[in-house]
Amino acid sequence: MSYSDLKNKVAIITGSSSGIGQACVEYLGSLGAKVVVNYARSEEEGQATLEKIQKAGGTGILVQADVSNEADVQRLFSETVEAFGRVDILVSNAGMQKDSSFLDMSLDEWNKVIGVNLTGQFLCTREAARLFVKQAKNTPPSEDACIGKMILMSSVHDVIPWAGHVNYAASKGGVLMLMKTLSQELAPMKIRVNAVSPGAIKTAINEEVWSDSEKSQELLKLIPYKRIGTALDIAKAVAWLSSDDSDYVNGATIYIDGGMTLYPGFADNG
Ligand code: NAD
Repeated sequence: MSYSDLKNKVAIITGSSSGIGQACVEYLGSLGAKVVVNYARSEEEGQATLEKIQKAGGTGILVQADVSNEADVQRLFSETVEAFGRVDILVSNAGMQKDSSFLDMSLDEWNKVIGVNLTGQFLCTREAARLFVKQAKNTPPSEDACIGKMILMSSVHDVIPWAGHVNYAASKGGVLMLMKTLSQELAPMKIRVNAVSPGAIKTAINEEVWSDSEKSQELLKLIPYKRIGTALDIAKAVAWLSSDDSDYVNGATIYIDGGMTLYPGFADNG
């Protein structure tokens, strides 16, 4: 895939030192975008990701920032502008799980997950929208041109309830409506906002499941396509949503889940 319009576009991908974010930053980098590798804690992983991009001929910088912290998010954007002069694409990907049964869930476990997965997306998308509008005022684009794109990383759990993970499911349900409302509000300003909702993707967040053969077999029962997804499956959709090829796509969620949202339990039980 070439997506030539992505060449030299500036893309921030949050939580990109591992997993899906890492695949997105590497893929966008390979398509010629100038990329920002963001990490919260592991500088080593962030540095290794950046070096891989640079070795493959890409351009990027590394910025530490906790997406749930307003000052950090503002610095993430200001350091990007300092390095590259602007921002064109935000992939708001950073996320986490802190699982517990509802009866045992502490307020801290609730707040932490909502803080990163939902408030973090609010802070990043707000900063991006403000910057897109400012950039367009300073350098008016041609009429009808998109002035910025955002892709929010959601989850199939924005529609599938998930017992034992109420903080996570509530955060992703919130992301769904954050994305739709932002899209409605920002589309007239020529900002595109969409979401990607992965199903089961082999990353660190769910290693406990895919590294155990019994749990993997149980998981496959929930996936009509009978394979666990890869981070690259997600990165390819993110690249399309970042490119002008998807220019008329606004307020959409793409479920990339091998059919997990198709109620597989009803396949032979209707
Ligand atoms: P991952 O754990 O590899 O990636 C999560 C990334 O977010 C990590 O790099 C982590 O350091 C970063 N992060 C966590 N807290 C942060 C913070 N406060 N500030 C900045 N970065 C922070 O797992 P992943 O599977 O790659 O998850 C990426 C996104 O995809 C998440 O939003 C997750 O909810 C979503 N998702 C994953 C799956 C899956 O099956 N793997 C399914 C649905 C949705």
